[in-house]
Amino acid sequence: MSRYWSKLVDDLDPYVPGEQPQDQQYIKLNTNESPYPPAPAVEQAIGNFTVDRLRRYPDPLSTELVTALADYHGLDPTQVFVGNGSDEVLAHAFQAFFKQDEPILFPDISYSFYPVYCRLYQIEFRQVALDDAFRIDLDGYRGANGGIIIPNPNAPTGIALKLAEIRALLADNPESVIIIDEAYVDFGTESASQLIAEFDNLLVVQTYSKSRNLAGLRLGYALGHAHLIEGLQRVKNSFNSYPIDCLTDAIGVAALADESYFQQCNRQVIANRERLSADLADLGFEVFPSSANFVFVRHPDRAAETLYLELKSAGILVRYFRAARIDNCLRITVGTEGECDALIDALKTILD
Ligand code: PMP
Repeated sequence: MSRYWSKLVDDLDPYVPGEQPQDQQYIKLNTNESPYPPAPAVEQAIGNFTVDRLRRYPDPLSTELVTALADYHGLDPTQVFVGNGSDEVLAHAFQAFFKQDEPILFPDISYSFYPVYCRLYQIEFRQVALDDAFRIDLDGYRGANGGIIIPNPNAPTGIALKLAEIRALLADNPESVIIIDEAYVDFGTESASQLIAEFDNLLVVQTYSKSRNLAGLRLGYALGHAHLIEGLQRVKNSFNSYPIDCLTDAIGVAALADESYFQQCNRQVIANRERLSADLADLGFEVFPSSANFVFVRHPDRAAETLYLELKSAGILVRYFRAARIDNCLRITVGTEGECDALIDALKTILD
C-alpha cells in the first residue's frame, strides 16, 4: 500500500506469470512455450530487416501483417486486430465489450488473467463450475449475461470443446459478445474462426506465443466481425497508437509464410504429448485428456506442491497453482522428447 495509489490500484490483485528464472538452467516446462525454435523464415526476416526503419514509427495499422493474417484465415483485413501478445488483445476486448449490466461468464477453472482484467476494468463476473472431470458444462452459459469468455482448449485443463458445442453456445447467446481464446487451438482443436461469417458476436483470439514458437515476440490477434474489430481499435487508439513495432510486423508476416514448418512442429508436440501422457499414466498419475501443448495431471497419493518443489530441486520447472479445486494438480508443458524423458526419470526417482 502506498498513499499515492488510487483505490482501484490498491484493490488490484495482479496476475502472476510462471517463473522465468534468469539465474539457473532449468528444463522449463512451466509456461507453455514451444520447445522448438521459430521458423527459419523468422531468422531470415530479422537478417533482412533494415535497421534504419527503426528511426521511424511503425505503421499504426500494421497493414502488412493484418493483411497477411486475413489471407491466412480467409477473412477480410477489417476482420483482424493485432496486439502486443494475446494478453493485450484480451485486455482490450474486456474493456471494449464486457462492461455491461449483467456479469460476464467464464469457467471457475480457467485462465487466471480473466478475473484480473475484470478487477482492472471493474467488470462484474460469475464463474461457472467445470464438472468433476474438469469439463465445461455448457448448460451453465444459458440466460442473461454481459458476455462469455472460454479458452478452447481450456487452460490449465487442456480439455477442448467441439466446434458443434461452440456453435450451440453462440446460438444460445445472440445478445452478448462471445470470446473464444484459442491460445492452444493449433495442437488439435478445430478453430471457431470458421463461424465468424455466421455469428457477428464471435471474437476469436489467437497468439504467436505457443504454436508459432514466438512467445518472446509478443504478438497476438483477434478475428471477428468488422464492428467488433472497430471496437478494439477504438480502445487501442485510446491507449497506445503503436503496440506492434516494425520488426515484429515483419517477423509476424514471415512466420505465417512457413506453413510446413508450423505443421511439423505442432505434429511433433502432439506426438510428444501423447507419449508423455501415457508415461505419466504409467507412473500412476491421473492425466486429463489434453488438446494443448501441456498436460494437466494429479497423483492419487502425492501432494502436487511437494512434487513441484521436488522437481524444481531436480532442475525441472512445472506449474503449480495454489487455487481452489486444482491445488493438487500440476500443469506440465510438453517439451522435446528428451525433456519429457528427463521429467519422467526425475518423477520415477521422486516417487520411489
Ligand atoms: N490465453 C491463454 C489461455 C493463455 O494460457 C495465455 C498464455 N499465458 C494467453 C492467452 C496469453 O498469451 P500471449 O499473451 O503470450 O499471447
